Amino acid sequence: MAQSSIEWTEMTWNPTTGCDKVSAGCKYCYAEVMTKRLHSMGIEKYKDGFKVRVHEDALNIPYTWKGSKVVFVNSMSDLFHPEVPLEFIHKVFEVMNNTPQHTFQVLTKRAERLYELHHNLNWTNNIWMGVSVENEQVIDRIDFLRETKIKFLSCEPLIGPLSNMNLENINWVIVGGESGRNPRPMKESWVWDIKLQCQEKEVLFFFKQWGGKNKKKSGRILAGKTYNEMPGINKFSLQH
Ligand code: SF4
Repeated sequence: MAQSSIEWTEMTWNPTTGCDKVSAGCKYCYAEVMTKRLHSMGIEKYKDGFKVRVHEDALNIPYTWKGSKVVFVNSMSDLFHPEVPLEFIHKVFEVMNNTPQHTFQVLTKRAERLYELHHNLNWTNNIWMGVSVENEQVIDRIDFLRETKIKFLSCEPLIGPLSNMNLENINWVIVGGESGRNPRPMKESWVWDIKLQCQEKEVLFFFKQWGGKNKKKSGRILAGKTYNEMPGINKFSLQH
């Protein structure tokens, strides 16, 4: 478990590590870069680099947290990666089901596998399930999400317009630009387009960042405002 600087969560929990690239949004994968760094520092958990690994010992961690936490599950991996055994996915869900005091945010790019498995998973109210939608090529991921309970989209890095999203029953949308050394640009018009679609369907909207080479400098103000909407968690105030 680690405190997180990601604006829409509090901490990360990584019962699995490792992944491989599946679509354009993976190009500058943060998890891969971080894994290289942790591997070179000799951290045991990352000894196999970016190969998919499950960590049974990490399953106990949420039981040890005090109070209620908001937790991004698998910031260093993808829980629905084909190499993560179904049995282990069940174990991760069991932990989330048994710790209703915490909110778990699970984000995947393997939406087909999520869809295949969703009937056999226990979707308690503390599990928010998200898919990444970085451009129109992967817009179908939204449909694979529809049968889970609290549903969100991470449109980050937004590298193309998303003019026609079906936001029916989607609860929350996060938008952010790419950061790093060679970030692909995000147009302001794409952000507004998504914002308006959210408004029409009464979907909560969170603007995470503009991104760019200096993401701190470019910040996260959209036309003079910050957009921090999230599904009802008291500790996060909603601002418009
Ligand atoms: S799915 Fe996520 S963790 Fe896996 S390579 Fe792509 S960006 Fe990285």
